[in-house]
Amino acid sequence: MISRQHWTDCSPLAWFLIPALLALPAPLAGRVRLPHTQIDQVVLANGLRVEMVENHDAPVVNVQVWYHVGSKDEGAGQTGFAHLFEHLMFDGTRNLGPDEFSNYIVRSGGLDNAYTTEDATVFWETVPSSTLPVALWLEADRMRNLDISDRSFKNEREVVKEERRERFDNQPYGNVLEVLYAHAFTVHPYRHTPIGSMEDLDRASAGDVRRFYDTYYVPNNATLVIVGDFVKAGAEAEIRKYFAPIAAGAPIERHIAVEPPQAGQRIVKLQQDVALPAFVEGFHMPADGTPDAYPLRLAAVVLSEGESSRIYRRLVYEKQIALQAESSGNFTEDPNLFFVFGVLNAGYAPAQAEAEIESLLADLRSQPLPAAELEKAQNEILREFTVDRQSNQSRADELGQDTVILKDPELVNTEVERFLSVTPADIERVARKYFVPENMTLVEVYPDGKSGRGGGR
Ligand SMILES: [Zn+2]
Repeated sequence: MISRQHWTDCSPLAWFLIPALLALPAPLAGRVRLPHTQIDQVVLANGLRVEMVENHDAPVVNVQVWYHVGSKDEGAGQTGFAHLFEHLMFDGTRNLGPDEFSNYIVRSGGLDNAYTTEDATVFWETVPSSTLPVALWLEADRMRNLDISDRSFKNEREVVKEERRERFDNQPYGNVLEVLYAHAFTVHPYRHTPIGSMEDLDRASAGDVRRFYDTYYVPNNATLVIVGDFVKAGAEAEIRKYFAPIAAGAPIERHIAVEPPQAGQRIVKLQQDVALPAFVEGFHMPADGTPDAYPLRLAAVVLSEGESSRIYRRLVYEKQIALQAESSGNFTEDPNLFFVFGVLNAGYAPAQAEAEIESLLADLRSQPLPAAELEKAQNEILREFTVDRQSNQSRADELGQDTVILKDPELVNTEVERFLSVTPADIERVARKYFVPENMTLVEVYPDGKSGRGGGR
């Protein structure tokens, strides 16, 4: 995902760079029950879907508006539009000048931001409970009254282009995932990433962007999630007051191409201004929420979560081929990729690391996972679910994802069981099905030798 004001979790390589979370020691998986979350749901006549969870632990509320539009909705020649639009939503309306939205939130002691993924654009605020009506008014105002002037459009376009340079073009390995996606996908729009291309951003006009707003920023394509300290009846009345007058948009037609199965390995070699060689392997895998997604998420934990994980142990600790090596799935609305990624130590070639990875994947394909190792991975997932219950924002993130992308808000209560019921046979089955060379795209990065400097800038 890419995010407007900061990028703690948004660089395409961030998945690999975030330090591994501490794993709990083994016992307890399947025995701990998360407390039930009561969800109150309302759908307004204009199609706006509302999901509410009361939590009175602290006098704050997290408000999120999910627009079901992301980079996969961008047509040819429009890459980067969804993210550009995320920026424009902060640039003023018929009622408010540029930046006044965030000023209201910050002056009340709150925080706000937004991010864009392949599938959705999400705007959020955390505010004191007493400010909830203001946050709702502000979100309703920019859903209806956005002021897209030529000036704000051109200004944000430059901001986004600069963001692209800083975070992707001028970062070591910054465009490797972009190259991987462009080769792993042939027709599905995941073949381009949310940041888009400079050429398309340059070609965009204010008129194109207005059409994008009129098509996708409509109540029937939006979900409002609020989690925190409010009372349902009062909040619902405020929501109706501000959002019900907004007219529904035309039904949205989506024509998203289906990616055909990959029939053979694809290899791309890059020479770049980096100090150390690297590689990334992308295996096609099914969408989030499908039965195979759960064993695949657990496989990623087994392979690379923590220092006892298989990839870390083999490549970094024992053989010392890699400085860093990890795996991770990008679980999205449509089928996406499972990655294995590594930055090598000086003197090693990508092929050496790739052979070790293949041997580890072959183990998963041919031998059932020991029960204790699976249980440890399940405990780690359970730990993540538990930690996520501690903040209104992460609860709202999960509820938004479950509602908009997985189409089932009740997964907030039921999804953890899907992880805990995975068996060693499930892991073996998905490894055999997806972790095979003919389903893989490989990008190798070699230092071009032009730079004497280290990997960071
Ligand atoms: Zn941005």
